[in-house]
Amino acid sequence: MEQPYIHILDPYPQQAPEQNRLHPFYDFVREGKLTTTRCKKCGTLPWPPRVVCPQCMSDELEWAEMPREGTIYTFTAQEAGLPPGYALPTIFALIDLPNGVRLLSVIEESELSEIKSGATVEFIVKHVPNDRVMPAFRIKR
Ligand SMILES: [Zn+2]
Repeated sequence: MEQPYIHILDPYPQQAPEQNRLHPFYDFVREGKLTTTRCKKCGTLPWPPRVVCPQCMSDELEWAEMPREGTIYTFTAQEAGLPPGYALPTIFALIDLPNGVRLLSVIEESELSEIKSGATVEFIVKHVPNDRVMPAFRIKR
C-alpha cells in the first residue's frame, strides 16, 4: 500500500494570509474565478496579480476577473519534481486569453491527444492537498 505523503511544511505557502498579501487570489479560485489585479490609477492589468502597479508604481489595485477561456499557445510536459497533488506527466501550457494576457497554467482533465497549439481551453479549479486549490485549465468540450 502506498504511504500517504507527510506534510511537514505547507507545500502551498503562497495561499496563507500570513505569507502573501495576494492570498485572496486563491479564495477567488476556490469560488471558480480567475482574477488578477487592476491598477485604479492607470488601468494596467498585470499578470500575475501584484501589490504594486508595474507601470505607475501605485499601490491602489483592485481585483478584476479574467476571461475563463483561452487558447493554447504552446505546451510542455514535466515528468518529475512536482508538488503533491500533480500527476505525472503534468502538462504546462502557455495560454493566450482574449484580453491579451498570456499565462502559464497546468492542463488537467484532458486527453494528451487533445492538447495542441490553438486548442481552446477553459478555466477549472484544481484541488490539491492541505485543502488548497490551484488554477488550471482543461480542453473545452
Ligand atoms: Zn498603474
